[in-house]
Amino acid sequence: IVEMGQPEHSIVTTCAYCGVGCSFKAEMKGNQVVRMVPYKGGDANHGHSCVKGRFAFGYATHQDRLKTPMIRNNINEPWQEASWEKAIQFAADKLKGLQQKYGRNSIGGITSSRCTNEETYLVQKMIRAAFGNNNTDTCARVCHSPTGYGLKATLGESAGTQDFDSVMKSDVIMVLGANPTDAHPVFGSMMRRRLREGAQLIVADPRHIDLLKTPHLKSAIHLPIKPGSNVALINSLAHVVITEGLEDHAFIESRCDMKTYDKWREFIRDERHSPESVEAITGVSAEKVRQAARSFAQGNNSAIYYGLGVTEHSQGSTMVIGIANLAMATGNLGREGVGVNPLRGQNNVQGSCDMGSFPHELPGYQHISDDAPRAHFEAAWGVSLDKEPGLRISNMFDAAIAGEFKGLYVQGEDIAQSDPDTQHVEKALRSLECLIVQDLFLNETAKFAHVLLPGSSFLEKDGTFTNAERRINRVRKVIPPLAGKEDWQITMDLAKAFGYPMQYNHPSEIMDEIAQLTPTFTGVSFRLLDKLGSIQWPCNNDHPTGTPTMHVDDFPIGKGRFIVTEYIATEERTNSRFPLLLTTGRILSQYNVGAQTRRTENQLWHKEDRLDIHPHDAEVRGIKEGDWVGISSRAGQTVLRACLTEKVLPGVVYTTFHHPGSGANVITTDNSDWATNCPEYKVTAVQIERVTQP
Ligand code: SF4
Repeated sequence: IVEMGQPEHSIVTTCAYCGVGCSFKAEMKGNQVVRMVPYKGGDANHGHSCVKGRFAFGYATHQDRLKTPMIRNNINEPWQEASWEKAIQFAADKLKGLQQKYGRNSIGGITSSRCTNEETYLVQKMIRAAFGNNNTDTCARVCHSPTGYGLKATLGESAGTQDFDSVMKSDVIMVLGANPTDAHPVFGSMMRRRLREGAQLIVADPRHIDLLKTPHLKSAIHLPIKPGSNVALINSLAHVVITEGLEDHAFIESRCDMKTYDKWREFIRDERHSPESVEAITGVSAEKVRQAARSFAQGNNSAIYYGLGVTEHSQGSTMVIGIANLAMATGNLGREGVGVNPLRGQNNVQGSCDMGSFPHELPGYQHISDDAPRAHFEAAWGVSLDKEPGLRISNMFDAAIAGEFKGLYVQGEDIAQSDPDTQHVEKALRSLECLIVQDLFLNETAKFAHVLLPGSSFLEKDGTFTNAERRINRVRKVIPPLAGKEDWQITMDLAKAFGYPMQYNHPSEIMDEIAQLTPTFTGVSFRLLDKLGSIQWPCNNDHPTGTPTMHVDDFPIGKGRFIVTEYIATEERTNSRFPLLLTTGRILSQYNVGAQTRRTENQLWHKEDRLDIHPHDAEVRGIKEGDWVGISSRAGQTVLRACLTEKVLPGVVYTTFHHPGSGANVITTDNSDWATNCPEYKVTAVQIERVTQP
């Protein structure tokens, strides 16, 4: 696959890394990929790509790929290779046995934001229809679940409001807790183009992100916020808008629920939310906050883009609500150039949420307790469904440790490395009597598994991914699956062995079923996708070719709802023992836990995770560039190499989590968002000291 040569033909498919969802031409020679070329006809990327995507094909045939199913009765035993039939029957028998012994709710599964919509749909269908419970959750739980909650509560739909191209019509771009240059490179470049053309930039982030260094910026305001104080900041921005009379009365009166607005207005105009009152909490000068609020409110088209620096907090959902409040109060919804835009981390975070992965929602965010949609699914699937929401990932861990949850099927997520408080996660995994891991590589989670099912990479299957702008892109099979099965076939076979036969001949048939059952997808089909190139949902009778801009005339709930957002400080506090705040993020050349990118050529550029330390904090501790540094928190300890930089504020340290040995999640806490249990990865009180060796 890595040999170069003249291509004989090419196949258009979608990058499987970040939420931009770039289209690529996989250029082929025989059955081998010669190279990946960004596709000019790609609606999300218009012929651009980043370095990760270009090299992505390297991991697909890496020598570490799992090719044979493996089983064992006990995690201390060596693995035994098994045929697909034997491994799948072994897994199904174990899960059935656990249900007989411990009850229907003792097993569940986790879907992947890296797999296709069709695969995700099948996993949650198997759990609800075959396992007979709603113990389904997704790795989106640990990144953007607050987006789903906050945007549904205020705007009525759990999704971003714009397409990417909309940014080219923005006059003011507010970036909250996101670093598009590294985490969403192709969209980050588009944003920079607009900034070079003259749009104003407002950034709220504890780090001086690269976007602030865009050449020829007309105006940039950096609000260097203390980790954990987002809600105090968004409230103070809204306070300025309301008390200085900068709100959009016409929008509020015509589009919003006035009862909720009046209540929120009374709340937000209180002096305790003024920039001066919260200066000590946010660490940002009141004058800068006032300047930012005025610029945002007075822009013709002001747009908000946000990332995990918003969601991964104990008040993640509150902050998403606060963002929606600000957009409604300033009339920045329902046209190009404005909106509330979550930048999703993984390729199919939006899709995995859309497809009913959460324990309380069927596909299309239809609540499991609502009788009408549940009856619709019951009729189509031929079963009766439990109306009670099931366990979230963190509940599964707690229940496993309590001895009440015994069997787990994990598709494409390395929970032992990516979830916070590693010690707690490992204890939970060790407590399981059957852990089934379906993945490309022998990951950290697999150490605790009883069944290993080799997954298929994005090059080995057909299907769809939905990117951060709700755009459904086609994934096309470029090479045959290395281990003989595509992921959707594995789930289908497991459901059958469990006693619930499903029969699909191709992922297009799964999408046809999704369209039948999901009001926002009724017009979606592979035929239409192949004709149009891509479709942004909702796609139905009202929007037969999709919806680039949402909420143009009204909201799915009629009027937009303001919700009061009281700032409550996180329980994670600094003190004399742990005086610094650690926050985490990504680097351009790597992707998440690095399982894929570390197996491509770009691993050469980033061999280890480092700890960014402000020179002042380093100097008082005698730490120099490149020294080994011990980091301890209330949860655990790890060691990283020091990188001295003024990109971070004094009092804040920062690292990435791309390498399994770095142990970033050994030190993160088990605090989580009050509404969704999204972990608070972004705030950990730590102490650092120079150590002689790791
Ligand atoms: Fe595009 Fe993201 Fe893939 Fe880069 S990693 S090519 S920006 S989808």
